[in-house]
Amino acid sequence: MTRGQYSDWRMETRAVHAGRLIPGDDRDRRPFIPTVPPIHPSVTYYYGRMEDLDAAFDAEGYVYARHGSPTVAALEEAVAALEEGETAMAFASGMAAVHAALLAAGARAGTAVVAARDLYGATYLLLDRLLRSQGVNVRFVDVTDLAEVEAACAEVCPVVLLVETVSNPLLKVADLPALAEIAHRYGAAFLVDNTFATPYLVRPLSLGADFVIHSGTKYLGGHGDVLAGVVVTSAARREALMEVLKTMGANLGPMEAWLLLRGLRTLVLRVERQFASAQAVARWLEAHPRIARVLYPGLPSHPQHDLALRLFGGRGFGGIVTFELKDAGREEVFRFMDRLRLCVPATSLGDVQTLVLYPARSSHRSLTPEERASLGITEGMVRISVGIEAVEDILADLEEALKG
Ligand code: PLP
Repeated sequence: MTRGQYSDWRMETRAVHAGRLIPGDDRDRRPFIPTVPPIHPSVTYYYGRMEDLDAAFDAEGYVYARHGSPTVAALEEAVAALEEGETAMAFASGMAAVHAALLAAGARAGTAVVAARDLYGATYLLLDRLLRSQGVNVRFVDVTDLAEVEAACAEVCPVVLLVETVSNPLLKVADLPALAEIAHRYGAAFLVDNTFATPYLVRPLSLGADFVIHSGTKYLGGHGDVLAGVVVTSAARREALMEVLKTMGANLGPMEAWLLLRGLRTLVLRVERQFASAQAVARWLEAHPRIARVLYPGLPSHPQHDLALRLFGGRGFGGIVTFELKDAGREEVFRFMDRLRLCVPATSLGDVQTLVLYPARSSHRSLTPEERASLGITEGMVRISVGIEAVEDILADLEEALKG
């Protein structure tokens, strides 16, 4: 827009149009490039000629933010690169990403889905209540029992096998190559929620997964200030996923995409510290007289320790530790959590701050007591997401709280 043109317009018109970019604007041609991707809040886009706008609809150019936008695309490119996938799509939350991946993989009335039994609570509910009520035949299995997975697949011929690399909150480790092989033998797409493991530990697409899902809210963002989800998949599956995104409309906004991208820049530094500290916390808890049981894939006592070692190549075992207080129920767990001074009793994980959560009353609150009991989520169980603080300070805080 040439500045002189403003004087042709009345105040009302200037207020609306002055400062906007137009095709060929000199601000587009400046010889500098920002080192950080800009935030593009624009919902809609126009081109120099109507022909170009028309072509943009077909070529996945930017026309309307629900179909894609530059800041979100920068984030998607970064997550696809980390997960070694061909394409990624960002969503407004991890749950939107799980839902979209299930739909893109073909979950519909009359089809079947086989899924891990101990999934994140909302994922379990999405399958058990919402999709089931819409006519999807949902079968839950213990993914550590490959014979059970195989039998379920043989019986219902699912369109999807869904697992978490490391499950929430029981920290069971899924044998991704073996499960991919079973899924594909029965014609199912293999969906892996890699939120807990992060691409730092394992890239499931390289082991046979068809879709990788992240709650970006957790380690990818890492700072507890953005709710987001991402699905990574092959170019061949992009269209199906795009169809869901455009019609479901659970898009990630540009501000959130920018925050997530900024968090992603320090992913490796953060998780290296968090995973090493989690290993130390797990060992310390295992030796503590008030602790009945510690679940952590990095401990030799964990039933899938060898598998985790193989799958994660010795890079670590994650930043989450689940443990049970001895002879404790809700009252004792609440007392322990109320005594914490450094660790924050808040509902999330993967933050730079250490967060402590009571699964029975938060992540798995919507399940019935019977459902929780059948999953193995007990009333004395606590989940800790280890942050980047000095591990000595985390241990001192736990020690003090355990005295109560
Ligand atoms: N998947 C896992 C493993 C999670 O832990 C969570 C949330 O805790 C989700 C998905 C859902 O993510 P969001 O809370 O971003 O919707």
